[in-house]
Amino acid sequence: VTSIRSEVDLDLDGRQIGFLRLPHSVHRSAYGWIPVPVASIRNGDGPSVLIMAGNHGDEYEGQILTSALLRELDPGNVTGQLIMLPMANFPAADAGLRTSPIDQGNLNRCFPGDANGTPTAAIAHYIEEHLLPRVQVVVDLHSGGSSLLYDGGNLMMLEPRNPSEALLVRAYASAFGLPRTLLHNPNPPTIAAAARRQGAISMVTELGGAGAVSPPIMKAARAGLLHFLGSIGLLHGDLVPAQAPGSTRWMRSEPLTHWSYASERGLFEPLVELGQWVQAGEPAARLHFPATPWREPQDLAFEGAGQVVCKRVPALVQRGDCLFQLAGPIEL
Ligand SMILES: [Zn+2]
Repeated sequence: VTSIRSEVDLDLDGRQIGFLRLPHSVHRSAYGWIPVPVASIRNGDGPSVLIMAGNHGDEYEGQILTSALLRELDPGNVTGQLIMLPMANFPAADAGLRTSPIDQGNLNRCFPGDANGTPTAAIAHYIEEHLLPRVQVVVDLHSGGSSLLYDGGNLMMLEPRNPSEALLVRAYASAFGLPRTLLHNPNPPTIAAAARRQGAISMVTELGGAGAVSPPIMKAARAGLLHFLGSIGLLHGDLVPAQAPGSTRWMRSEPLTHWSYASERGLFEPLVELGQWVQAGEPAARLHFPATPWREPQDLAFEGAGQVVCKRVPALVQRGDCLFQLAGPIEL
């Protein structure tokens, strides 16, 4: 059961665009609803994929990509179904914020959600219970958002549990062809874990970020997504590129050693660049304390070795803020 009513009938063929109507009674609108844009492009039986963006509202690349696909793709070029949510957490995306200004909800920490909960929880519940069971794959287009910048295009996929899953992960990530694919373990309140609970494969991108849009990354992500949809037989025709945008490097971020955090409040000066390979103990960042100007800056070192795949953007930091994410090469 859900209080959300979809204007789009997902069982019908053709191209349909409308809203998920999420009832929301507030002072200025007693009987109102929150409009979460949704689209379906369906043509008979075949593979089905959910493409999401705006899970975090300050990640813009995916919102642009998904909206473009929704306009450009024709049911005649589809076998199966594409379901699209260009602004999944609409209140957050409408405000350009990671979390919803209505309930402070972080959609990607809300799964499996709650049909009778806050707006963010109700959206999570609808995605997990009503959309994910319909698809074999969910592509959730994230990027660094306001506080982080990823190095180029990255794909995140769950560590496969058996050889047949490993075959799918290898095929899907290779078809997407972003420069890096990072394998990770499921975190229960995220879309990746929700997908696994519902029997779908998750492909979560991290495309640039810093609250901006990078044309080369957009181009690679679009080509990769279209090529992937072609590779599984869902999409046909001129829009499907003949080949993947590139080959992918398999990597993993180790939970204990690949993350650097600010040790206290200060101004963050990075000492390495994105894409650089670093060693454990190598200087990562210098923290400055202009409020105590006679105090010497503090140097922070990397705890592990690897490639710098993500860095914090704003210089003002507090204790606990993530400054860098590293990743190391693996075999799959
Ligand atoms: Zn995100």
